[in-house]
Amino acid sequence: MADLIPVAEARTRVLEAVGRLPAEPVTLADALGRVLAEDVESAISVPPFDSSAMDGYALIAGPAGELEVIAEARAGHPAQMAVRSGTAIAISTGAAVPEGATAVVPVERTEAAGAAVRVPDTEPGANIRRAGEDIAAGETVLRAGEALEPAGLGVAASVGRDSLSCARRPRMALLVTGDELTDPGEPLAPGGIYSSNSYALAGQVERAGATLAMRERVADTAEATRAALDAALDEADVVVVSGGVSVGPHDHVKGALAELGVKQHFWGVSLRPGKPVWFGTLGDKLVFGLPGNPVSAMVTFQLFVRPALAALQGADPSISRTAARLDQAVARNPRREQAVRVRLAAGHDGWRVSPTKGAQGSHVLTSMLGANALALIAPGEGEASAGELVEVELL
Ligand code: AMP
Ligand code: MG
Repeated sequence: MADLIPVAEARTRVLEAVGRLPAEPVTLADALGRVLAEDVESAISVPPFDSSAMDGYALIAGPAGELEVIAEARAGHPAQMAVRSGTAIAISTGAAVPEGATAVVPVERTEAAGAAVRVPDTEPGANIRRAGEDIAAGETVLRAGEALEPAGLGVAASVGRDSLSCARRPRMALLVTGDELTDPGEPLAPGGIYSSNSYALAGQVERAGATLAMRERVADTAEATRAALDAALDEADVVVVSGGVSVGPHDHVKGALAELGVKQHFWGVSLRPGKPVWFGTLGDKLVFGLPGNPVSAMVTFQLFVRPALAALQGADPSISRTAARLDQAVARNPRREQAVRVRLAAGHDGWRVSPTKGAQGSHVLTSMLGANALALIAPGEGEASAGELVEVELL
């Protein structure tokens, strides 16, 4: 790890290596969180027809008077006749405004008078929702690259689409290396620890819109490491390996990747925590060697793997970046950029971040609890002072 590269440079190298996954049709019911691969144009106007905004009477706008009620228009059941002078049609919210009517008067402003109704002065257009007020036919309502939120699903449905073209979800393989690793639920052997990375990283994978095609625990031998990586490269678009990437006698990841022909793009980033991070490619497959330490693994996933997963799907990889003011001073690291676990909250003068309580060591996973962002503190002497504006990556 001769030359540590800056975080921004590492991120650029990742994004330069990322291609685009193909699109596939996705039914609306399954599309939440998926990234659109098409611009969605509406074939219809929404609402499709002039409709009533109120329960009341459809009439020809004009002075107060008494009108004969000749029919009813209900939602989904248009009136079979037109409004003529001297008449009104009872109407429900959402019902099509009958032919001839130019306004709706709400029921609470009227008075029943046998088969007639007494109405006040009305202005043309009152309480009528015009066709196309929400969406005009031909309008682009959703754009490629947007992740589908509940409102986006609703809008797609409102224009009649039951399926959307979305980027295929990235297929991920997650390998955790280490003879000490034990699955939760199993008894701990002497020297054993539970594999938290198997679950924390898997959660990050899911949050990033990818699917786990393979999750495996790998022993600290060259053979096991190579076999697992080989299978992972067959299985997945993106391989994430945690641990075993350093230079100890029992770290086999880099050697195995070299044997499998995976080309190194960087090794070692000027980041704390998260220095020993490796990135390479084999064809269009991406391979990330993340540090074994649980916080470092989560931080490097967030800073390097998550943007790659967004870009693979055609989404903006920087959507989770913003800036906020430090609530308190943070000591700078002389050489490395720091990713400080913080809580982002609205202050009276904009967004503020405050470090999570307690130790922030790379093995202190509880320091991630309650963190909803990472504050990126540039290296240097002294401290980043309270009130300073820093870059923030939302978790
Ligand atoms: P390594 O990068 O393999 O040297 O691991 C660095 C540290 O992270 C060691 O203390 C490992 O025990 C720990 N570690 C590695 N993998 C995991 C994991 N899956 N879950 C929790 N801790 C891990
Ligand atoms: Mg290890």
